[in-house]
Amino acid sequence: MIKRASFLIIVISLALFFFGCSNLHKNRDVLYQTSTINALLEGVYDGDITFHTVKEHGDFGLGTFHALDGEMIALDGHFYQIKSDGRAYPVDASMKTPFAVVTFFEPDQTTSIDKQIDYKDLEGYLDSILPTENIFYAIRLKGTFSYIKARSVPKQNKPYPPLVEAAKHQKIFEFHDVKGIIVGFRLPQYMKGINVPGYHLHFITDDRKAGGHLLACTIKSVQVEIDYTNKFHMVLPEKDAFYNLDLTKDKHNQLDKIEK
Ligand code: ZN
Repeated sequence: MIKRASFLIIVISLALFFFGCSNLHKNRDVLYQTSTINALLEGVYDGDITFHTVKEHGDFGLGTFHALDGEMIALDGHFYQIKSDGRAYPVDASMKTPFAVVTFFEPDQTTSIDKQIDYKDLEGYLDSILPTENIFYAIRLKGTFSYIKARSVPKQNKPYPPLVEAAKHQKIFEFHDVKGIIVGFRLPQYMKGINVPGYHLHFITDDRKAGGHLLACTIKSVQVEIDYTNKFHMVLPEKDAFYNLDLTKDKHNQLDKIEK
């Protein structure tokens, strides 16, 4: 009788375990983001969410840090902080972010590019192979680049300036014939104000020692992986700095200046 009871317990536990796993799997095609891009444009740079929490929602993505202290890039579950010296540092789980975008990366489409194309051509090429403009895509490009132009921003002090002002002090890093990985997203135009519509990409070298927010590139030879994502989870700051913002204005001109 005892044997039979323990057998039943094992069967029930296994059923619960597999049910849990399948549920977990269902929740992996979710774009998770903290705060909004327009709040960042307005200078809301205080970290709100720890990377411990961010990691629960993805192993891949980009963002920034408390006080706008560098560019964040995440891949294969490893999170890096690219400071304004251009170097990549490991991110501690206790550090906080005012803006991050992550997902669990599981590619639905793979292809390769084996010719010299620049950022604009890359955007055109990716647009031509995607099935629709209306869902979210996580994108990973791994390979060799003839040229990379990346940037990072120095840590800001209070009172925080708006992002257009902070970005004037950005540091530019150039790489030639470099092996590395581009990580980022293509989001629909209707995400305007919430996140960056179109392409937003960050770069890190193969040895994970340097990188930044991608400003320009020339591809030599890369493997392209694209993860189709159709769910969205946004967490807003519960702070006066966010509550008191006027987020009714269209800021896309400011965003264009900063992102490219
Ligand atoms: Zn960026």
